[in-house]
Amino acid sequence: MQDVDVIIVGGGPAGSTCAWKLGQAGVDVIVLDRASFPRIKLCAGWVTPEAVDDLELDIDSYPHSFMSFDKLHFHFKQFHFAKKTTQHSIRRYEFDNFLLDRSGARVHKHKVKKIEKQNGSYIIDGLYRCKYLIGAGGTRCPVYREFFHDINPRAKLLQLATYEHEFPYDWENDECHLWFFGDGLPGYAWYVPKADGYVNVGLGGKVEKMKTLGGRLQNYWNSFTKKLVGEALVHDAEYEPTGYSYYLRGNVDVVRNGNALIVGDAVGLASVDMGEGIGPAVRSAILAADSITENSKYELQKLARFSVPGFFRNRGKQARVSAIADTKSVPLP
Ligand SMILES: Cc1cc2nc3c(=O)[nH]c(=O)nc-3n(C[C@H](O)[C@H](O)[C@H](O)COP(=O)(O)OP(=O)(O)OC[C@H]3O[C@@H](n4cnc5c(N)ncnc54)[C@H](O)[C@@H]3O)c2cc1C
Repeated sequence: MQDVDVIIVGGGPAGSTCAWKLGQAGVDVIVLDRASFPRIKLCAGWVTPEAVDDLELDIDSYPHSFMSFDKLHFHFKQFHFAKKTTQHSIRRYEFDNFLLDRSGARVHKHKVKKIEKQNGSYIIDGLYRCKYLIGAGGTRCPVYREFFHDINPRAKLLQLATYEHEFPYDWENDECHLWFFGDGLPGYAWYVPKADGYVNVGLGGKVEKMKTLGGRLQNYWNSFTKKLVGEALVHDAEYEPTGYSYYLRGNVDVVRNGNALIVGDAVGLASVDMGEGIGPAVRSAILAADSITENSKYELQKLARFSVPGFFRNRGKQARVSAIADTKSVPLP
């Protein structure tokens, strides 16, 4: 049995950030991840300047693909406008590995199955014992399942289903495009070019709404990829899209249960307007680490719910709902 102060389940941005912060404070940490890094993570790889700041990333010395945009293109049916803003793209395959490596934590490849609480400690699969347990295992986090699912379940209404593909592509258009509600999709689709000749295209929508509308991801995908050809963004691509699901930010009252804490997608923290999850994963991980090192309360009520505050509300009737979550159906904190 290995004894350690903190076990972090999951080495994505939430887990690696928590490990990095705890390591800086001299806390002994082991990260357990079922995957070997670098690993593929479905994600458009859009990163906000706030997340870059929280991660204290020096863009100039970041050793992998990193691209910056000075505007985002928003498409609503026949309307199109560009919003000036600085945003970035990375490749998760590289980014997550870089962050985990930088954390300096010991990383063990291990799929967590059974978690027991004994005499104030957590025992994981009979192999590891720790005082604090961090659930950073994303949507299917076993810590969430064991200690949070029953007391603060994620809301079905806030579940997103996504479909995407990232592949090498000699893109000509070096700007980021977003299409909202195309073909009735209760969500949006994206084209995100990456440095070093990659592109990520995909779409996501609310699961329950799609069920009500009878919409299928594959059908939305077929018309979206036709649109990419029509707009001369991607042609001659052979797509192999993959699906994944995660949750927008709802009521996240209970994020600590004893000495078990959950962060990132394990909580379900993606922004309600854009489904941005990296920034909230990083921010929640910093707060969780602080609460352990400072013996303070861990709460996420102050975490921003929107990626672009006020933006959608100021665009007239057409865009008076948030991009993904319409305000009527979202139980907000
Ligand atoms: C298609 C798609 C596009 C997206 N685009 C963006 C975007 O452009 N920008 C953005 O900000 N957000 C985006 N998101 C959301 C973003 O990817 C997530 O919010 C973010 O990855 C959350 O980080 P995390 O560390 O909480 O979880 P994850 O990155 O999912 O990491 C969880 C880790 O836990 C490990 N794990 C899981 N179960 C176990 C287990 N039992 N034992 C051990 N290890 C385990 C996994 O292997 C994984 O490495 C997108 C999501 C999807 C699906």
